[in-house]
Amino acid sequence: MSEFQTFTSHLECGMTGETYAADEIHGLSAAGKPLLVRYDLDRLGKAVSKQALAARTEGGFWRYREFLPVRRTENVISLGEVMTPLIAAEAISARLGCAELLVKDEGRLPTGSFKARGLALAVSMAKELGITRMAMPTNGNAGAALAAYGSRAGIESYVFCPDDTPDVNVREIALQGAHTFLVNGLINDCGRIVGEGKEAMGWFDCSTLKEPYRIEGKKTMGIELAEQLGWTVPDVILYPTGGGTGLIGMWKAFDELEAIGFIGSRRPRMVAVQATGCAPIVRAWENGQDHAELWQNATTMAAGIRVPVAVGDFLILRAIRESGGFAIAVSDEDIQAALVGFAREEGLLLCPEGAATYAAFLAALSSGQISKHESCVLFNCATGLKYPMPAAGAAIDMHAPIDYGSIGRAK
Ligand SMILES: *Cc1c(COP(=O)(O)O)cnc(C)c1O
Repeated sequence: MSEFQTFTSHLECGMTGETYAADEIHGLSAAGKPLLVRYDLDRLGKAVSKQALAARTEGGFWRYREFLPVRRTENVISLGEVMTPLIAAEAISARLGCAELLVKDEGRLPTGSFKARGLALAVSMAKELGITRMAMPTNGNAGAALAAYGSRAGIESYVFCPDDTPDVNVREIALQGAHTFLVNGLINDCGRIVGEGKEAMGWFDCSTLKEPYRIEGKKTMGIELAEQLGWTVPDVILYPTGGGTGLIGMWKAFDELEAIGFIGSRRPRMVAVQATGCAPIVRAWENGQDHAELWQNATTMAAGIRVPVAVGDFLILRAIRESGGFAIAVSDEDIQAALVGFAREEGLLLCPEGAATYAAFLAALSSGQISKHESCVLFNCATGLKYPMPAAGAAIDMHAPIDYGSIGRAK
């Protein structure tokens, strides 16, 4: 990779606007809120062009180096990132008679989920800032991405999962070199262990939004999406919302792209999708609140969005409101039905969180919250192959005569 110019000017508290110096280690702001990275957008806009970006055919989200905080190329940690495809659900949109329905399939990224975007940036910045030990709570995918990028960077990682995290996630985390722990609680309980262990263990806490750079990685979803759509934005984005990094990141990306003249002032309506068993953002949105209270007894099959409390709640709610979007919860039954329906009709296996966005799309289309004329993008944030699947396969006795007449009726 050749040398790139970088444009970080400072960091800023997402709540108070208080500024912090770039190129130093930071966690939350003094107000206990997420820090956002700010760039010299005038200089950035002069340094990149749409043509120059189009000419970079390799590198996935690292193609947007000027929009990212890593200063030195030797600190860029890469596992072969790709630009994730936008797949049109043509059978479904034709059947429903609605405008274009696209799936951004993030399951193609290293470690099989979009957590690769955030953790690649967090780990690269940790390397740049001299951090040697990182820790985080996770429902699975973030831990896998930290373990993978951490090992690649030579940074030690400690990962704490709720003890009912899918086995495949726990094992991939451990195999990719993290110290891996199962906690008899939820992700916020795991987060408390990471926070309280800081002094004894000397690790850097890279929990969702508790460090500034995961947002910058997730921001690349917004840049990539706009570029794939010919530097335009869709009418609606449906995003499965846990900590909300991606939704906040994309919203930030659109502002930066407008500031440098790559897109206009039109914005997609941002829709936060949650599960009825864990819907703190939906409840806050419906009650007109700026902050979301902790959701008790959180439960859903969509582990990635089982996040009872989010530090960036106000940023999520702000983006939803400013965009004219909404927040919506769907049941696990609807998620499962959406997952099966989408796979059969379109041949694409979604993860449960991705299926939740399809379920929400169907619900919002029938309630009128989304109109048939609006183009929509669903985020499938991980490969469906990482999740438990229902038993399948009809038995055949190879020693007995096979009744081919009945074979077409088996699933
Ligand atoms: C982490 C995760 C989410 C939620 O992402 P946020 O940006 O933290 O809200 C959704 N789906 C999957 C598969 C995830 O791993």
